[in-house]
Amino acid sequence: MSEGKVFLVGAGPGDPGLITVRARSLIESCDVLVYDYLANADLKTWVKPGCECIYVGKRPGRHSISQEKIEDILVEHASAGKQVVRLKGGDPFIFGRGGEEACRLSAAGIAFEVVPAVTAALGAAACAGIPLTHRGHSSSVCFLTGHEDIERGDMHVDFAKFAQIGGTLCIYMGMGHISDITEKLMAGGLSPKTPVAVVEWATLPRQRSLRATLGTVAEAKDKAGLKPPAIVIVGEVARYYDELNWFEHRPLSGKRVVVTRAREQAGELRAKLESLGAEVLSLPLIDIIEAESHETADVYDGMANYDWVVFTSPNGARLFFKKFFEKFTDLRCIGGVRIACIGAATAREVERYHLAVDLIPETAVAESLADALLATETLDSRTVLVVTGNRNRDVLVRKLEDEGRAIVDMLPVYRNEPTDLSEEPDAKSFREKGADAILFTSASTVENFVAQSGQLQLAKGARRPKAISMGPITSAAMKEKGVPVDAEAKEQTLDSLVAAVIKKIG
Ligand code: SAH
Repeated sequence: MSEGKVFLVGAGPGDPGLITVRARSLIESCDVLVYDYLANADLKTWVKPGCECIYVGKRPGRHSISQEKIEDILVEHASAGKQVVRLKGGDPFIFGRGGEEACRLSAAGIAFEVVPAVTAALGAAACAGIPLTHRGHSSSVCFLTGHEDIERGDMHVDFAKFAQIGGTLCIYMGMGHISDITEKLMAGGLSPKTPVAVVEWATLPRQRSLRATLGTVAEAKDKAGLKPPAIVIVGEVARYYDELNWFEHRPLSGKRVVVTRAREQAGELRAKLESLGAEVLSLPLIDIIEAESHETADVYDGMANYDWVVFTSPNGARLFFKKFFEKFTDLRCIGGVRIACIGAATAREVERYHLAVDLIPETAVAESLADALLATETLDSRTVLVVTGNRNRDVLVRKLEDEGRAIVDMLPVYRNEPTDLSEEPDAKSFREKGADAILFTSASTVENFVAQSGQLQLAKGARRPKAISMGPITSAAMKEKGVPVDAEAKEQTLDSLVAAVIKKIG
């Protein structure tokens, strides 16, 4: 048995882009991931298949699992020879009980490593535009806790003493006691006019913040409704917030944008919107359910006899090769087939295997694919394999058989089913708060959205989103289904779609 090990890994302040390269590679390779409330849930999608993910998160007042039990979990899995990543919000050794966990591992004789990370105060300062040190204003920084133990809530820091230091104070877990803390700081000699900033959910698109003074901050944060997790920054440098708060002034800062696709499929569009400051909600309207292997086994046996293989979607291509390599170890088993793909995204899936795609129609629709195949005049009495899901492909097969006189086999490698959105966090958030825009990138996203509209009813007072379309075909589908088109991308590209979003809601 290989030796187990625990990696105490900092997840950074929230934005997955701020995690270390070392942390990412450990997440990707571990056998067990033990994660917290504050570690971004997106990081979980990086694990390898079969990795066990254990949530041990706690929130003030409501802890789901005791510290001792968490340590037991680490010891247990490492003792069984597993590589365990214990992912903690921010840095593991700053107010995160990382020290206690490391001591327990050391006592149990378990090998461990510690991977440092950007702690919340640094993330908050950067994204609120507050230089923590500044020549002339502050030459020291302190990290303090507003309450030592999240569960007990009692205070151990002598704030009056810190008032005399004269540098920048970054207060973690301070929201519950903010009046006490500010009073003690003022009693210790800090002026009520001392600048203060509060940064909630720092580094994430949902970041909110405010600027006040020691004398006003307790009331101001209640008025603004800021809640934990938040960092309170006290000191002359907090003044720079007024000039340097870049993060909340990007073109889509504070805007909520819905992408009607699963998180895994929304990657590029999501990244573009987030880099402009938007909070992106992903609605996975359909689930891709892989077909059982026995339904498709015969086709793979005869694989080398086909003249054409036609792929009608990226998911179809991806799952085709997944099954192919479960059956064969050698790519040559695919034989000398010619390959057609409905569009560029599908072709990219095929090209991953260094297979050249022989045909892609000009527009990515079934009719055009059929016409382009017919135009090759290579179908008569030839065998064609159409790799499909469960929708909309009849046109293609019919045309190839009737007009091309081809012998067509269908290979359904997956089927689409409406997703159960009742527990999806983004769907819940959409129902409760709504959004500023909802983006439709294809006719099928419109159909799926309308089919799922029962599960997406907005609550009273929720923001009603503007509907933004990728182009004329999508807009036509929207009109047909009664979805008003509020804006349309000028060209059918993601950049153009994003430009339309900025113009409409930015
Ligand atoms: N180990 C963590 C701190 C854990 S204590 C770190 O190094 O950052 C939890 C406290 O951290 C919260 O109550 C809050 O004060 C702060 N915190 C964590 N993430 C935060 C975020 N994204 N924005 C603001 N404060 C955050």
